[in-house]
Amino acid sequence: MQKEIVRINDIIDQVSKYNQEADLDLIRKAYVFSAKVHHGQTRLSGEPYLNHPLWVAKILADLNLDEYSVSTGLLHDTVEDTYATLDEIRQTFGQEVAFLVDGVTKISKLSTKSRLDRQADNFRKMILAMSKDIRVVLVKLADRTHNMRTLQYLPPERQKRIAQQTLDIYTPLANRLGLFLMKRELEDLALRHIHEKIYKEIEKNLVVTAEQREKYVQEVIGIIDEKLRQFGISAGIKGRPKHIYSIYNKMLQQNLDFKHIYDLTAVRIIVGERKECYEVLGIIHSIWKPIPGRLKDYISLPKANMYQSLHTTVVGPYGQRVEIQIRTAEMDMVAKHGIAAHWKYKEGRKIEQKDDQRFAWLQQVMESQQDVKDSKEFLETFRVDIFPDEVYVFTPAGEVFELPKGATPVDFAYRIHTAIGHSCVGAKINGSIAPLKYELKSGDVVEILTQPSHKPSRDWLKFVNTSRAKTKIRHWIKQQERERSIVLGREICEKEFRKHKQSFSKLLKDSEVLGLFRKDGVKNLDDLFSAVGYGRIRARQIANKFLPQELKEDLEEKAVKVPTKTVNKPGKGIRIDGLDDIMVRFGKCCNPIPGDRIKGFITRGRGVTVHVVGCDFLEDADPERAIDAQWDNTVHYTATVPIEVVTEDKKGLLAEITSSISATETNIVNAKIKTTLDKKAICIFEIETSGVEQLEQVIQTIKNVRGVLRVTRVRP
Ligand code: MN
Repeated sequence: MQKEIVRINDIIDQVSKYNQEADLDLIRKAYVFSAKVHHGQTRLSGEPYLNHPLWVAKILADLNLDEYSVSTGLLHDTVEDTYATLDEIRQTFGQEVAFLVDGVTKISKLSTKSRLDRQADNFRKMILAMSKDIRVVLVKLADRTHNMRTLQYLPPERQKRIAQQTLDIYTPLANRLGLFLMKRELEDLALRHIHEKIYKEIEKNLVVTAEQREKYVQEVIGIIDEKLRQFGISAGIKGRPKHIYSIYNKMLQQNLDFKHIYDLTAVRIIVGERKECYEVLGIIHSIWKPIPGRLKDYISLPKANMYQSLHTTVVGPYGQRVEIQIRTAEMDMVAKHGIAAHWKYKEGRKIEQKDDQRFAWLQQVMESQQDVKDSKEFLETFRVDIFPDEVYVFTPAGEVFELPKGATPVDFAYRIHTAIGHSCVGAKINGSIAPLKYELKSGDVVEILTQPSHKPSRDWLKFVNTSRAKTKIRHWIKQQERERSIVLGREICEKEFRKHKQSFSKLLKDSEVLGLFRKDGVKNLDDLFSAVGYGRIRARQIANKFLPQELKEDLEEKAVKVPTKTVNKPGKGIRIDGLDDIMVRFGKCCNPIPGDRIKGFITRGRGVTVHVVGCDFLEDADPERAIDAQWDNTVHYTATVPIEVVTEDKKGLLAEITSSISATETNIVNAKIKTTLDKKAICIFEIETSGVEQLEQVIQTIKNVRGVLRVTRVRP
């Protein structure tokens, strides 16, 4: 098929007929350029390669598209398959053609790379998202149409694969854009290559029954024609054979033989005006009985692809079912060419160059469909263009993934596999290294670099965008904490048992001990050790169970005597590296307040105690138990801090100092004063402070009081 030659002059004539203002020189120039760069190339059919772009241009002209689209049809393979560059196209044909050629080239690269089996839907959205201009999709569809027409020259394996891809990706796309004729042609061509036997059989049957069907349809048309004349309505009436793919589908879905498919032909009535459609419908129903449930009013409720028509099925002559479609000439045009037809109506004058106006017509269509049920579906289709809240990216193997806008390589990594997410150390975007917080764009090829030993970082939570990645990272952190706390808790218990000269294996074998801590949520030994590690249960409480009565300790009393300060609720005020859910106390030895540089210290059986860096306690402490700790700036915190003020022994000075402290809106909790032999006074003020910064301010204020000699923060 289609080895026949199409001539550039025919295309130019055709364009000049439907668009008098078209820049025909642009098309001529595109032809000459294409002929030059494709020179010497042939297709598998043996014909010159140039025939292909010529046919693509012809298909676009059949859709009445503008000169930019037709020129793009001629040039669509030049950047991909010849030495021509995009810059050259831009210089020779301008920005608009270059933009379209670039769009088509990008889509072509995708489809050869991609395994499409189970992601056709994403792929379609991706094409729309990447195209930015619907004309890119139209050129791509024209390209695919001609490739399908010449598919027989390819090896059988590729024929089947491309035919299936056409059904998966391109016919739904054609349907969405309302390109009914193209959809129909692509479907039949695809079926022919996928199920050749069935295709041939249906084709043969159609031929065998053709005469009989033709006769019947003519009879129906005759009856309608006569009736319409009586009512003074002029209309075009035609019988339209259904296409083979739709017959095949019907046989498949309803499990029917060919001979049981009755409505192989539809009768189409084309009238001049919208209101006549309804008049004709009334007339038809007065002749034949309509089949309930088969009346569809796509005029008042157009389909998502803008299709408008009345459909009804009636019991025609001899009791046979006949489907009848009624619409105006304009509706018929849209039914055949969909968005392309709409394009012509809206853009017939002059195409706006500005990007933001490119979609003005599309928005108009949507507005006109606002109270239509289908408009939601329509919107869904084009959401990717107009409200780009999704991005479509690839693996290096060409698999497509849909992610929300703002997603990063880390989101992508978790989307592929949790293990990939956990071990992700970097990313290559389109071949070059990019930061992990890079914002992905549609069409990016994303390669995740992993290192098996690598661990997720809490910092990732600040920039990941998908709930999947967030959940997986949090889960991992929780898991890690638990593992750490189990190891730690076990070690603490072992030492506690050793201290009391008890065999640790006794604990491991004893199942009753777990029961004692059931109220703490302990179900197994790991739970028990983890609770000890987190400081929720003291190792001594466990050891107690194994000790003789006289050695048991009164734990309640002991707990009160622990030399630490205010218990900090888990997660409040302090962040401990890697541990979310842990008891935190402050060392009384150094009394840390927010702003102090601090270090955590894992206390046996009592969670973590926080000390100021430089505190004597840490000097002697087991460095193995040291752990990083930070102040949590999001939590408001107050601490009571003693400060020592040395002054001259002078009447009224104390009052002056207290009022200067109050002026900084700081509470004084307690004050003690003593005088020394050398006529000085030493005052200890305990003040409430939110941290080092405020404390410094208070100290400075006191220093400014005349008579004050020295102010220092007291470390207990
Ligand atoms: Mn091509």
